[in-house]
Amino acid sequence: MFNVILFGPPGSGKGTQSDKLVEKYGLVHLSTGNLLRQEITDKTPLGLEAQNFMDKGRLVPDSVVIGMVDSFFDKHKAAKGFLFDGFPRTVAQAIALDELVVKKNTEIATVLALEVTEDELVRRLLHRGKTSGRSDDNNEEVIRKRFSVYMEETSPVANYYNAKEKFFTIKGEGDLDNIFHLLCAEVDLRMQKS
Ligand code: ADP
Repeated sequence: MFNVILFGPPGSGKGTQSDKLVEKYGLVHLSTGNLLRQEITDKTPLGLEAQNFMDKGRLVPDSVVIGMVDSFFDKHKAAKGFLFDGFPRTVAQAIALDELVVKKNTEIATVLALEVTEDELVRRLLHRGKTSGRSDDNNEEVIRKRFSVYMEETSPVANYYNAKEKFFTIKGEGDLDNIFHLLCAEVDLRMQKS
């Protein structure tokens, strides 16, 4: 198996680049944001619980997200690899993911982080909010809250993988195809080594 984490703040382009990467490398896309939004659409108990947190720009509790990822794994036993998008978002999630991949006899090959300035991120999210129907992208206060949560709770995840020498940054501004090629170059390099 070959597993990649695409890392970066809200609006850094993880979703867009994930779609291209899963297609090129035949990976299964695991976006916790998408899974949570589907739970909300389906009005499941998990979705109802998650919505309160998401509407405020806060993180959904680790236990909820980790349980959801665990059952996603169970549903995709034949996957040749996963692309994680928006997960792990806390160090506790990163530790849980390590345990899950060990159980599957595999590992995280690389963590690729998209770097974008905060001004550009706010601009992109407000723009996305006009068309995506996502209420958490419509409100500048909620967007700012998501950034502060990112700085406090998610950025330590970068150090976690840096200590394992698995963390690589890529400039997430400019031409979409160019960013994609930079990501592919890293993936190809890690694939050769795995
Ligand atoms: P973005 O990266 O633009 O914030 P996502 O779709 O990844 O968009 O996430 C939307 C919201 O879903 C987050 O603000 C958070 O409330 C919740 N969420 C997504 N993934 C996680 C996660 N791994 N842990 C906790 N909450 C999450």
